[in-house]
Amino acid sequence: MKITLKNLKRDYGTLHAVQDVSLTIPSNKIYGIIGRSGAGKSTLVRLISMLEKPDSGEVWYDEERVDNLSKKELIAKRRRIGMIFQNFNLFSSRNALENIAYPMEICHMEKGYIKKRSEELLALVGLEGRGDAPISTLSGGQKQRVAIARALAVQPDILFCDEATSALDPQTTRAILALIKEIQKKMNLTVVMITHQMEVVRDACDFVAVLDSGRVVEEGKVSEVFASP
Ligand code: ADP
Ligand code: ADP
Repeated sequence: MKITLKNLKRDYGTLHAVQDVSLTIPSNKIYGIIGRSGAGKSTLVRLISMLEKPDSGEVWYDEERVDNLSKKELIAKRRRIGMIFQNFNLFSSRNALENIAYPMEICHMEKGYIKKRSEELLALVGLEGRGDAPISTLSGGQKQRVAIARALAVQPDILFCDEATSALDPQTTRAILALIKEIQKKMNLTVVMITHQMEVVRDACDFVAVLDSGRVVEEGKVSEVFASP
C-alpha cells in the first residue's frame, strides 16, 4: 500500500512539531524516517498511523483519504496497520504464543485458526517451540520477534517500526533488521521505520526522509541521500 502525505501540520501550543510535511511512501518498500530526538518523528508516525489528527494537511492510503475518518471507520482501517516499539509493549502476564494470539482474539477469529496461525507466526520469526515461554524469560531480540509476530497477526498492509532496534545491541539489531527485510519481501508489506540511527537506515531502508524541527530537509533513495563521498 502506498501512503501519501500532503502538507501535514501539527502544533502543540506554540511548538510546530510537524510543519508542512509532504511525502510519498511507496508500496512494498522499507521507508526510513530519521532525525534527532525532538525532530517530530513520533508525532509524524501518530499522524500517518491515524492515532492523531493533523491540524491541517492530508493522509492518503492508496487512493483513499484517511485523516478525516469517523471513529468507526478508523477502527476498521487501523487493522491494516501493525506497529512495533523500542520497549516491545508485550503483555508480561501472557506467554509468547498468547501475545501473538491477542489481536486475533480481539477480532473474534475462530479458536482453531488462532492457534494454527499463532504457531505459524512463531515459526516465521524463528521462535519455533518457544510458544509457552513467559515473556520475562526472553532476551530483547526474542521479545522483538514476538512483537513482530503479534504485529503481523491480522495481516496488515503496513508495519510501523518506532525505534524498534534502539534497545538492542548491534548484533541483535542486525538480526532483527534482517528479519524485517525478509518478512517485508515475503508479505509485500510497506514498512515505515522510525529511527535516530544512521546504521539502521543504511542497513535496512530503500528510501529515507530526514526530519529536523518538524520539517523534511532531505528525501530520496538511501543510496542517493547518503552517498559516499
Ligand atoms: P520520543 O523522543 O521517542 O518521542 P519522548 O520522551 O520525547 O520520546 O516522548 C514520549 C511521549 O511523550 C511521546 O508520545 C510524545 O509525543 C510525548 N511528549 C513529548 N513531549 C511532550 C510534551 N512536552 N508534552 C506532552 N507530551 C509530550
Ligand atoms: P521525536 O519522536 O523525533 O523525538 P516528537 O514527535 O516526540 O519527536 O516531538 C517533537 C516535538 O513535539 C518535541 O519538542 C516534543 O517535546 C513535542 N511534543 C510531542 N508530543 C507532544 C505532546 N503530546 N504535547 C506537547 N508537546 C509534544
